[in-house]
Amino acid sequence: MRDPRFDILFEAVQIGPHTARNRFYQTPHCNGMGNLRPQAHAAMRGVKAEGGWAVVNTEHCSVHPSGDLMPEVLQMLWDDGDIPPLALMVDAVHEHGSLAGVQLAYPAYYNANRLTRDVPLGPMDRPVSGHHPIQVRAMDKQDIRNLLGWWKAAANRARKAGFDILNVDANFSTIAFQFLSPRNQRTDEYGGSLKNRIRLLKELIEVTREGGSDQCAVSVRLIVDELFGNLGLRAPDEGIEAIGMLAELPDLWDLVIGTWADDSPTSRFAPENDHEPFMVGVKAVTTKPVIGVGRFTSPDTMASLIRRGVLDMIGAARPSIADPFLPKKIEEGRYEDIRECIGCNICVSSHFAMTNLRCTQNPTMGEEWRRGWHPERIAPKKQDKSVLVVGGGPAGLECARALGERGYRVTLAERETKLGGRVTLEGELPGLREWLRVRDWRVTQLNKLANVEVYVGSELTAADVAEFDPDHVVIATGSHWRADGIGRASHLPLKMATAMRVFTPDDIMRGVSPKGRITVYDDDHYYMGSVIAEKLALEGNDVTLITPASDVSSFSINTLENIRVARRLFDRNVKMITHSSLVEGKKDTVLVGDVRTGARAEYSADALVLVTSRLPNSQLFHTVSSHYGHTEGNPKVSRIGDCNAPAAIYAAVYSGHRFAEEFDVDTPLLRRERIDLIKSGAIADC
Ligand code: ADP
Ligand code: SF4
Repeated sequence: MRDPRFDILFEAVQIGPHTARNRFYQTPHCNGMGNLRPQAHAAMRGVKAEGGWAVVNTEHCSVHPSGDLMPEVLQMLWDDGDIPPLALMVDAVHEHGSLAGVQLAYPAYYNANRLTRDVPLGPMDRPVSGHHPIQVRAMDKQDIRNLLGWWKAAANRARKAGFDILNVDANFSTIAFQFLSPRNQRTDEYGGSLKNRIRLLKELIEVTREGGSDQCAVSVRLIVDELFGNLGLRAPDEGIEAIGMLAELPDLWDLVIGTWADDSPTSRFAPENDHEPFMVGVKAVTTKPVIGVGRFTSPDTMASLIRRGVLDMIGAARPSIADPFLPKKIEEGRYEDIRECIGCNICVSSHFAMTNLRCTQNPTMGEEWRRGWHPERIAPKKQDKSVLVVGGGPAGLECARALGERGYRVTLAERETKLGGRVTLEGELPGLREWLRVRDWRVTQLNKLANVEVYVGSELTAADVAEFDPDHVVIATGSHWRADGIGRASHLPLKMATAMRVFTPDDIMRGVSPKGRITVYDDDHYYMGSVIAEKLALEGNDVTLITPASDVSSFSINTLENIRVARRLFDRNVKMITHSSLVEGKKDTVLVGDVRTGARAEYSADALVLVTSRLPNSQLFHTVSSHYGHTEGNPKVSRIGDCNAPAAIYAAVYSGHRFAEEFDVDTPLLRRERIDLIKSGAIADC
């Protein structure tokens, strides 16, 4: 049963003409499906509603072709033809008794209009972001009148699609906010004073109200602090003043801070509820419901924010991705079942990859329609079978858990005394503690399954497996870091003096602690190089990070972390050398070559940590396969996760889950959303 102290989270909230059944609000978030994959999008949002989110929003929905963000996969309401894909989502959300919201948006300084080639518009003449050789034209009065007309028409279409809440997006890169920002230097009645700068937002709220008539609530998603120092809108000053000026005009305030990277920091750099200081004073200037985010996973934090009058509803994007059933689990008192977001931002990276949303904790995310997966349900077993899973890292744990849920007799054997594999090791690195949630949630779930037996401290050999002789063997023995330097830049082993002390991340994670001047060579480009450098610097060493890339941890631009990574290393006195690939390790120096000019340079080093690439631990797989009569795998033997192909943790979890979903099942081809050329009349029926 639910603890009564959380009852407050299940009180209804009035939002204009509609009532949200509880205080859980899924804020708008990108998902890589958008209107390009509308059925996948609708199914994903529907699952959120099923999981108890009282309000489920779309992502950015462009109101006009001159606000085109292609190739990003988002929503649009440019004409009536855009209504059906969104109506699909509305129906999926309504089916479970939730309210559907649409984030009406028009970008500014971000709209290169690569699809439509319309001239981008904005408050002032300025280049568009992203280094495109294109400028925004400053809007004149007619442009503003046009925008209001487009916006109202889009609001009207959103109403026709069935949306309950029409959101006026005044996020960082939107027209409404760029007018509101103090950096708007217009000299007419839309620039200068706060009263002038907020005029466009006010007018947009008014036309949204007209477009939605009395059927729809109107919400505003606003930045309360730009985090831009003196050049930006700040809380409490103008941030709170701006809300106060329009206090009762919308039916709800949904508040964010800064850019996307500021608003959605990873757990490496910010804890849960990091926005609270910016919310102080908001409730004093409006009686309308206030929503904030902060990667909330703790019911105590949520209830406390409501009780203390900071927020009226709990906003969440990432926690709703990691666990679409978070509200239901709190409602039913199943707190330990909450699959807590680990704050890794792999979900964000799928937006930049422009493909179906993916999540480290929730492997079913983005697969609801195309593979028919569900975060809380999985098909029961077809027949009684025993499965041995060797290796208890993220892949093995998820595989054993999901197979166990299906009802198979599962045995999981792990060599170490602790489960978790790489997650257990990496979770001890600076800033990565929350990643242990990948292990902990799965271990909790495994403990509930009577048909799964877990053995730790059990290193299995091929002979052990043969003796056990299950119906199926899954090898999930992981991978190890290479010590020869082969990676993206070096295709052959690097020349290394025997006097140079060479280590890998595995050595460092297992407690080896080199001292002195240490070079970390990062040819992996995600987090490992920088966290190893940070750890060694914290231990008092003189650390230099060298990378062939133009940025340190360059993949982390996709997880919104790259600036913070560089700043963290700078703060820890780690020297950063980019555009340089390792050529040779000498006695007490490393020789590097500039990847642009070929110029050579030498740096002192007492030790070298190679963070380049990994090799699968696939020996057991091959030996067991040949025991059963094949050298490259037998129908009775499978390999998953890093043992199959090393990748980030989300891929290992996905691999384990996919195996369990597809075991003993005739798996149909991935469902795709294609243009029907016959229906569209482009070709004759064939
Ligand atoms: P993945 O990310 O694919 O799950 P990990 O490296 O995290 O890979 O996990 C692999 C796990 O397999 C580790 O915990 C390791 O201790 C375990 N392991 C490796 N070889 C054996 C073996 N022969 N028997 C049992 N466990 C093993
Ligand atoms: Fe959270 Fe990571 Fe999943 Fe995103 S990918 S929702 S940050 S666990």
